[in-house]
Amino acid sequence: MDKDRNSDIGLKVVKTPILENCVCPACGMKQPFVKDHEHWKKVKDLSLDKPTLLSVQRISAKCLNPACKRKSFVLPTPGIEKHQRVSIRVKDEALDKNILDNMSYPRTAVSLSRLNTAGSKSSIDR
Ligand SMILES: [Zn+2]
Repeated sequence: MDKDRNSDIGLKVVKTPILENCVCPACGMKQPFVKDHEHWKKVKDLSLDKPTLLSVQRISAKCLNPACKRKSFVLPTPGIEKHQRVSIRVKDEALDKNILDNMSYPRTAVSLSRLNTAGSKSSIDR
């Protein structure tokens, strides 16, 4: 497990597996994977006692269908929903423990959007 300079925040790296073939969500064409670009997205993991940031590798593939308006699409990352800032595991645990009822939604949204902004502006520090 990677440790950042921040001693109180854990950092976990989640990689996206690259498959030989992928399906464009826009046109549905199955095609060989051609990498467009990749970036890293920070996702907060609330399921642990210690706050943990997941650094999620997001890989974009080119759509090879010339008729497709979408030029590239993001490969799915297991455990991380598209456009979801909290991982599935976190949601499940939150449901299990009934945390959702006690959670302050506005506060959570603010802190998560801050995280997201920070994550999208700068790529991962090493
Ligand atoms: Zn397409």
